[in-house]
Amino acid sequence: MHKSLICIGCPRGCRLEIEMEGEAITVTGNSCPRGEAYAKQEMTNPRRVVTAVVHTTSSELPWLPVKTSAPFPKAAIAPLLNRLYKMTVKPPISCGDTVLENIDDTGINVIATESCPN
Ligand code: SF4
Repeated sequence: MHKSLICIGCPRGCRLEIEMEGEAITVTGNSCPRGEAYAKQEMTNPRRVVTAVVHTTSSELPWLPVKTSAPFPKAAIAPLLNRLYKMTVKPPISCGDTVLENIDDTGINVIATESCPN
């Protein structure tokens, strides 16, 4: 199987050509090792940092912006978003506080990206 990807590791945006045969993955077009690592992860376990909002009980900030603390498996993003949109959190919350811990035992948290004092 052949696939082309643009590396998102830096603004240079190298065009990666990926050949996958069984479990063997060959990457060309990368200017640094990060491109190869990105391509291999995209082919085997693609991940993204998830950003969303969760409802709060605050009248000043009814929706709190949040994000995952690390890139999260792409296949599990839709169930995570469903869970987040059903949540309600109570202030006070500081930027960086965990609002959802260890999602599905991944070791990844959802953290606030803004403070909600009251
Ligand atoms: S392969 Fe390396 S140099 Fe090229 S875009 Fe990715 S991170 Fe940047």
